[in-house]
Amino acid sequence: MIAIYPGSFDPITFGHLDIIERGVQLFDRVIVAVLRNPNKNPLFSVQQRLEQIRHAVVHLPSVEVDSFDGLTVNYAQMRQAQVLLRGLRAVSDFEVELQMAHTNKTLSTQIETVFLATSNEYSFLSSSVVKEIARFGGSIEHLVPSHVAQELQQCYANKYPVSNQK
Ligand code: ADP
Repeated sequence: MIAIYPGSFDPITFGHLDIIERGVQLFDRVIVAVLRNPNKNPLFSVQQRLEQIRHAVVHLPSVEVDSFDGLTVNYAQMRQAQVLLRGLRAVSDFEVELQMAHTNKTLSTQIETVFLATSNEYSFLSSSVVKEIARFGGSIEHLVPSHVAQELQQCYANKYPVSNQK
């Protein structure tokens, strides 16, 4: 069975990676799919995010990394996937995720959404939290793969050089 794990991944965190590693145990193939959504004003380009994810999943041969735009169910059908994989951190995720799962079901009855509950240690972790910490020079090595941590640090060093800080 093929599962699509769609998201922004701006950038990929250990919370995402945990879902991917557990998804691999459940499905023959997991396709991590970066949504090309210019409205979200991402920090990293789609190309950068694809490379960050590919580097992070190099130890997982049944994982493919791709990007898509438009409706997720259309992309899933095109890739002959039966499952949309999503992670749940808190009740706040649940409301949005349930609405999305119901919407997708009305668009395609063939495709099931499967939720994996976050591992306890990542329940607070989101791409936004990581960016906020990195922006103010805090330690993020325990939250994202090392190559992503480096790119974040470089990115914010260029955006907010020390000499410009008041
Ligand atoms: P989106 O913009 O679609 O929410 P994200 O990259 O933020 O994309 O998240 C993709 C998926 O990964 C979502 O289902 C989200 O709930 C899940 N996710 C993100 N962070 C974690 C985490 N720390 N633990 C479990 N699931 C997570």
